[in-house]
This record gives sequence, structure tokens and C-alpha cells, in this order.
Amino acid sequence: MAERTQLSHAYLLAGPQEAAHRRALELAQAMLCSAPGARPCGVCRDCRKLLRGVHPDLTVLTRLPDTKGKLKREIYVDQIRELVSTASILPGEAQRKVYLIRDAGMMNAAAQNALLKLLEEPPRFLCLILEAENAEALLETVRSRCVLEHVRGEEAAPPPEARELAERFLDAAAARSRLTLLGIANAQGEASNAEMLDFTAAARGVLTDMLCGRLPARQMPRARLLRLYRLMERAEEYLRFNVSVRHVWGMLSVEAASE
Ligand SMILES: [Zn+2]
Repeated sequence: MAERTQLSHAYLLAGPQEAAHRRALELAQAMLCSAPGARPCGVCRDCRKLLRGVHPDLTVLTRLPDTKGKLKREIYVDQIRELVSTASILPGEAQRKVYLIRDAGMMNAAAQNALLKLLEEPPRFLCLILEAENAEALLETVRSRCVLEHVRGEEAAPPPEARELAERFLDAAAARSRLTLLGIANAQGEASNAEMLDFTAAARGVLTDMLCGRLPARQMPRARLLRLYRLMERAEEYLRFNVSVRHVWGMLSVEAASE
């Protein structure tokens, strides 16, 4: 996916390990890509080197192995200090360089504090990407200096409650019943980010079934089903960028009635 927005100098990607790492590499590629247009292009020298795992301007830091080859439980302050000490060295090939910290939630407090200064005043060419299963594992001072992005794992079937809620929501949307939609939004305002993502995934599933004729479309024309589908995608984008669940439900309930 090409990055449409201005890239930030620090990201915190929170979510399942594999998904967070995939997203991290995608961001790193967008940062190092040397194509003039949409990045990453996937074909320039920088993209190809990154995809082969040999780009000299991408540094990946993770937990060290112990003597038995198992990963240690923490990322230690010395590892971060070493990283920080090389930060001002110019990139070798690309316009920027990227420091990617895997399992960033396992940095101990000293390590996190050692990283702070770099997060506060990074060299202009340096981008930091932190991966963590749980953003809360990091100190607030670290979190607040990163763009927080939630990532999700492979899409599993959403739980049945989410599907039931999605059907209720789309029934109300079909009837353009503002009151029912607002009622659902109010009742869901305290739900978690993950629960709401289950809902939007379920709603996209129901809409896909309607578009393919596997479910009755409740008298909604195809164009409207597509608009609702895009509305769910927009909600997911907001949620990934940490807009509050209450706010996103508010947006959905208003727009689903008018779409
Ligand atoms: Zn490229």
C-alpha cells in the first residue's frame, strides 16, 4: 500500500507480532524508497534491497539470544545505547535511515529512557519504528513521542456477537432509522478498539454477502451497499490511528443514515 500521508519520524506499531512486523517493513520501505512518486514503489534499488533484507540503512534491533539460543526476556540499555551512538551517522545509500526495534515492549525501563532523547531530537534523516504487542508496555514518555498505529493479525471470522450487531446496524441503516443507529452507537460507546474492529469486519462481511446475493440486500441498491462498505473501511482507518471508539461510532451512526 502506498503511503499517502506525510511520514512521521517515529512510529509505534501495536498488535500481533507478525502483523506488526509486516507493517513495520512496509513503513520502512516507504521511508527508504527512492522513487519520485508513490512510495514504496517496489521496484527501485532501495525497495529491492529492503525486500531482500539487505538494505544497509535499515537496522533491526531485537532481543539478544542467550547461551542456549533462546531470546532473552528483555532488551537491555546497552543495546539501545549502542544504537543511539550510531544515530548521527549519515545514511549510506538512501535519503533516510530506519531503526526498527522489534519487541520494543520488552525494553526495560533504562533502555526506554536511553531511547527517549533520540525520540525527542532525532537527526532529520532518522526514522524510528517500534513494534510492540501491547503499546501499554511502553512508558508514556516513549508512547507520546510516537505515532501510534494499531495493527491487526490475519482476519479471523469475527465473533457471533459482532455479526449480530452488524446485522442490526445494517437493518437500521437500510431503514434509515437515525434513532436506532444512535441507540446502537450510544450502547457501544464504551466498547474497546478491538471490539469495534470486530464489528466493522463483521459489517463488511455482511455487506459482501449482500453484494454477492448470499444475503438479501434489504432493498438497498448496490451503490449504497458499496458506500456503506467504504464507510466501514473509513471507520477502520480511524480506529487504527487511535481515534476514540465513541467518536467513530458517532460518525458511523450519522453517516450510515445519510449515505
Ligand atoms: Zn522504491
